[in-house]
Amino acid sequence: MIQMNVDRIQTFVGYQVPTLLSCSRDQRSRINVTRPHASYIFVEFISFNVSTSWSMKMAKLIVGLLLLSSCQVLLCAVHETPLRPNIISRANWGARPPKGTIRKLRTDPPPYVIIHHSASDGCTTQAICQARVRNFQNYHMDQKHWDDIGYQFLVGEDGNIYEGRGWGKHGSHSVPYNSKSIGICMIGSFVGHAPNAAAIKAVQDLISYGVAIGKIDENYTLLGHRQTTQTSCPGDSLYQLIQTWPKWSSI
Ligand SMILES: [Zn+2]
Repeated sequence: MIQMNVDRIQTFVGYQVPTLLSCSRDQRSRINVTRPHASYIFVEFISFNVSTSWSMKMAKLIVGLLLLSSCQVLLCAVHETPLRPNIISRANWGARPPKGTIRKLRTDPPPYVIIHHSASDGCTTQAICQARVRNFQNYHMDQKHWDDIGYQFLVGEDGNIYEGRGWGKHGSHSVPYNSKSIGICMIGSFVGHAPNAAAIKAVQDLISYGVAIGKIDENYTLLGHRQTTQTSCPGDSLYQLIQTWPKWSSI
């Protein structure tokens, strides 16, 4: 897919592209289209798998406009955007409205991703996971008196992601990181065993997607809840596991 899109730009531009590197968030492909006597213009676009035609149209428009001006174009095409993971919306899991307007994150995109477990029974079907998520929301709002469910997202062993407060919203899960982190709760108790493969993939896909769409800082640090405060969360097994994931840090 990367090659196909770049070829299409190449055709449109009508230039021989001198260098083509592989393209990812860490290793972006660059197409240098040299024009004399001009300054650099840096173009970055993200091509979503679901809207390739739209982003290609935008890319062609941008490239066309830049070529009309006599400038050097340094085009950075970031095509390796992960597919949007399946996120069950608040409406779909039957969320209550928040008590008030949830503040925005103070630092957005946030530089921290914090992993929790729910320390409850797990779930392997959407129906049961949704019921668990509704219970967490009730507990957070009615017992803890928070404005909403505390986490930005939750993940079940059904492989689904459940929208909590969502992207860009201030959380209630990890003082003092609530204003600068995305909190993801893996539903279950992961003291003696790790989450299943579906849940692990869902969390990792969610993080990758968040980075790709600019909702998580690309230089983010991954932490377990116990690194931010006195708690056993996210459970010994899950904590061991996340230490093997990219960007985990001992702080
Ligand atoms: Zn926690």
